[in-house]
Amino acid sequence: MSEHEIDPTSPRMAPKQEVTKIAGRELKPSTLMMGHGYDPVLSEGSLKPPIFLTSTFAFPSAADGKRHFEGITGKRPGGADGLVYSRFNAPNQEILEDRLAIWDGAEDALSFSSGMTAICVLLLTYAQQGDVIVHSGPLYAATEGFVAKWMSRWGVSYLDFPAGATREEIDAVLAKAKSKADEQGGKVAMVYLESPGNPTNALVDVEAVRGAVDEAGLDCPIAIDNTFLGPLWQRPLDQGADIVCYSLTKYVGGHSDLVAGSIAGAKKWMDPVRMLRNTMGGICDPNTAWMLLRSLETVELRMSRAGENAAKVCEFLARHPKVEGLGYLGMIKDARQQDIYDRHCKGAGSTFSLLLKGGEAECFRFLDSLKIAKLAVSLGGTETLASHPASMTHLSVPDERKAALGIGDNLIRISIGIEDPDDLIADFEQALEAV
Ligand SMILES: *Cc1c(COP(=O)(O)O)cnc(C)c1O
Repeated sequence: MSEHEIDPTSPRMAPKQEVTKIAGRELKPSTLMMGHGYDPVLSEGSLKPPIFLTSTFAFPSAADGKRHFEGITGKRPGGADGLVYSRFNAPNQEILEDRLAIWDGAEDALSFSSGMTAICVLLLTYAQQGDVIVHSGPLYAATEGFVAKWMSRWGVSYLDFPAGATREEIDAVLAKAKSKADEQGGKVAMVYLESPGNPTNALVDVEAVRGAVDEAGLDCPIAIDNTFLGPLWQRPLDQGADIVCYSLTKYVGGHSDLVAGSIAGAKKWMDPVRMLRNTMGGICDPNTAWMLLRSLETVELRMSRAGENAAKVCEFLARHPKVEGLGYLGMIKDARQQDIYDRHCKGAGSTFSLLLKGGEAECFRFLDSLKIAKLAVSLGGTETLASHPASMTHLSVPDERKAALGIGDNLIRISIGIEDPDDLIADFEQALEAV
């Protein structure tokens, strides 16, 4: 045995049991992010996981190879219990998935090459010809496009309800969806939510959706895109959602230097998606997974600071004479929205819309005058970003739909980062001055 080989019988070198509790106390996610799912003993004592750049994995024995493939192909439930091939899974991605599941209190998680890959593979797994997808609106534009333009090609239709809908309105849409599915010889395949909606920040009542789905006797999962408030400020599985989706590109990655996505939920909902991912690919690559492990160690710190900064910046903006209003979850005006917020959210986030007095010209003047905040789409990074949805992310949205969604020419989208809050306020103050 060479000095690099591990003697599994040696107590010093034996892989450690995973510690998730001390003296009955459940360890918090921010503690578990430093080591959960990784044992240095298995990697030459390396404190941090190495990046496993390999396409394939050697089997200890032929019988192991057979057993793994029974899991991969679904002959035996529960997936492979060892590593086989990097389209299916690999060490960095498995550690990432273990740690992502912790934040949402989920049994299992799956990582993907982008948020959209995660969402598309999820929808493709559950919907087939004749089925109806019910979704909240607005959704991220690419998600809405995938449902309306692509799923329809395969005979899947959809119905939607506005983000702030009441229980009665949700009941009505589900009843309509059921009869539509019956007509088409299909089923209601999924209720797909996004909360808060972009860029209005309207919240969906997930508890009401859970109640409506159960009372309608529907056997479909409720999925929710939690990119804007997760994982820190909202845990939708606690309100009755079954599957939570992320663009990890945003707060979780948090440094605007990678693109990735994930879903999490009970194993029974994850396993069918894993089977399709095994077939199609779309798993996150090992480098990106490693970057995300680094990001997860600071996600709570970064999001907390960004949230505190946003509260200070919004307090300043709300009082400014050139500001008409704010779409910020820390300053909700509507009683029903406030009620949903109180039941569902642990924080107001750091992404909001700023309504200026005026229109496009005033907004452009403001945006072009910013010195710290960068003019870019996306959100959730360490740096502050600002953009103009009506002429950028939502340019192709028809005018009536824009009006219905409250996306006017005077709306600016801002994602606050972790800079010094007073520097940010000084920047916004001088840019407002220039308007
Ligand atoms: C960015 C985003 C997505 C898409 O994620 P990508 O990682 O860009 O594919 C989906 N949903 C929301 C809410 C987003 O903000």
